[in-house]
Order: sequence, then structure tokens, then C-alpha cells
Amino acid sequence: MNSKTIKILIAILTIIAISIILIVILIPKKVENTPNEPSKYSEKATKILKDKDIFKEVDKLDYSKTLEVLLEENKFIDKYLDDYTKIDYKEIDDFSNTINTLLNKDYTYQEINYILNNYLSNIDILLNMKHINILEFKDITNFDINKLERYLKYNEDNDYDLKTVVTYVNIGLDLEGYSEYKTYTLEEAKDITILVNKYHKLPDDYEPDDLVSLSYNENYKLRKEAAEAFEKLTNAGILENVIFYPFSPYRSFATQNILYNRYKQVDGEKVADTYSARPGFSEHQLGLAVDVRSSNLSDNLTTEHYNWMLENSYKYGFIIRYPKGKQHITQYIEEPWHIRYLGTELATKVHDSGLTYDEYYDIYMENR
Ligand SMILES: [Zn+2]
Repeated sequence: MNSKTIKILIAILTIIAISIILIVILIPKKVENTPNEPSKYSEKATKILKDKDIFKEVDKLDYSKTLEVLLEENKFIDKYLDDYTKIDYKEIDDFSNTINTLLNKDYTYQEINYILNNYLSNIDILLNMKHINILEFKDITNFDINKLERYLKYNEDNDYDLKTVVTYVNIGLDLEGYSEYKTYTLEEAKDITILVNKYHKLPDDYEPDDLVSLSYNENYKLRKEAAEAFEKLTNAGILENVIFYPFSPYRSFATQNILYNRYKQVDGEKVADTYSARPGFSEHQLGLAVDVRSSNLSDNLTTEHYNWMLENSYKYGFIIRYPKGKQHITQYIEEPWHIRYLGTELATKVHDSGLTYDEYYDIYMENR
């Protein structure tokens, strides 16, 4: 071979090599891009959909940002395609992993949308526990997701419906009384509507600044508004021949301390706790509660007087605070003689609701 032939050969070989390279590089792209259908999705998402042979199926549906993000981030799991297209996208860190975690826990897209729309800031709680029927709590207005574990536990241990479970746990009934409580500020303590129980404490130094004497005995005091209402209540009773007497109105923290400790010495703490409040936890320190009795000789309220009180006291702003059959909620034995001033409007609502004030407060007043 002469050098000319060699050169021609090299040229031919070079052309063949370049052609092969071009064919290898270009042909697959050409195949991919034809037919060049317009896509609602990004190039990357579209490619994955086509590779998985589900582009046509997905293309018929409305655009889903959720699906696109999952595809873009390589977090797409085939079996959840249908769910992805129905889940509302939210701009949060780690959206894709959040969705997949919930789907892996068997949450439906309806549940996930509900969670994303309502509990976005508390979503970790749900991510860290097994699937729960979150929609069952949907209409329970006092549901607090931060107490979810407690609801589930209490629900397991008791036979109440979910609504009751939520309210009871919110009150604190799944905990031992006094084990966890909120202490009000001096300012909060002045509120006529304040709830005081084994989970809500008054400051030790709280003393109402508007105490006035009751006409029955000048040493018996209530806050002005409550004292005036009590006189009206008493007079209304007299008109119907229901005569009762106050015997334990306002009590200071110090007095309650002496009283409770005396009971504790006699009966022991466990029993004393069923009928006497520990200092700071008594409604009597509010100057809004008074015990009444049917005679100034005995410390009882007759059934007749109790029934009258049940039907009438709210009209003057008082409720029976520890009614019969509610000991499991109020944490006190029935005390028909103990009435608490709330003002006519609220007392009427509480009366009409048939709830204890502990329940009413949680459902209608706390955090509202
Ligand atoms: Zn009392």
C-alpha cells in the first residue's frame, strides 16, 4: 500500500468512527423526544414518568405539584402514584419524606390532606407514632394534638367515647390530682370565671381586693359582686320558704392551710383530698364560693333545698360546683352545699349544659 491509500483508508475509518459515535449519542435522544408531547411536568419529572410508562395515564389528570416534587427529588414510590396526585402540596422542609412516611404508615390521602391542613406545625407527633384515625377527632373542638398519646392511652384504659376521653384528659383526669397543675398569676386570679381545681392553683398570696361582708354575719365575706348576688339568692329562697344559711364563704390561703392539715391529721391525706382542697386549690380562696346549709344548727343541706338550689341558683349567678354523681370529674365527693359564683350569664350556660364546670371550662373557655 502506498501512503495515499493509507491516508484514504484512515479518512474512511475516521468518518466511520465519527458516524458510529454520532449514532450512539444522538439516536436514543431522538427516540426519546419523539413524539415531542407537551407536558405539564418538568423535564425531569416527565422523563421519569415516560421511563415508567405512566406518562399518558398521569397526563390525563390535573397537574399535581406533589407528584412533581416527589419525582424531582427521586422520592417517587410507584404504588403511591394515585395518592400523590390527590395530596395537596405544602411548602415544608422534607415534604417528600413526610408524605412517604405517612403513606408508609397507611394514612390515606384524605387523612394526609387533613393533617397537612391542620397539624403542619405538630406533624412530628404523627410521624413518630403508628397510624391513628385522626379523622375521628375531626369534630372534637377541644382536641389538642399535643395530648394525643394521653388520649390514646386513656382511651385504652377506659370505656368512654372519644369526645369524653378528650375532655377528661384535657381536665387532667388521666393524671393524679395535684401531680401537674397550672398556677395562675395574681392578675388571672381576679377573673370571676376562673377555674380552680386540683389542676389549677391560685397564687399563695392571692387575696381578693373587693371582699365585703354578708348581711348574715359580718365575718363572712365574699367578693362584692358575689355577695350581692348571694343576698338576692337568699331572698329568693325566703320567698319560696327555702331558708338556708351561709357558713363557709371566703377563706384565705392560710385558713385553708390550717383546715386542710387538720383534716389530713384526722383522716389521712388520701381521704382528706376527697373532701378538702389543699391550700391554693380551694374555690373559697377566690371569694366566689360559699357553703350553705339548711339550718344554722347542722351543716347539711336538705334534699329539698338542694333541688331548689339546682333549679334556681344559676338565675342569681351560682352553680352547684360538686354535684351528685360527678365525683370522677370534680375529684371531690358530692358537696351539694358548695355553690360557686360565675355571674348570671355564665352560670346559666353551665347549668343548661348539664356539665360540671371543669368540663364546661375545658370545652368552651380554655384557650378561647
Ligand atoms: Zn365549700
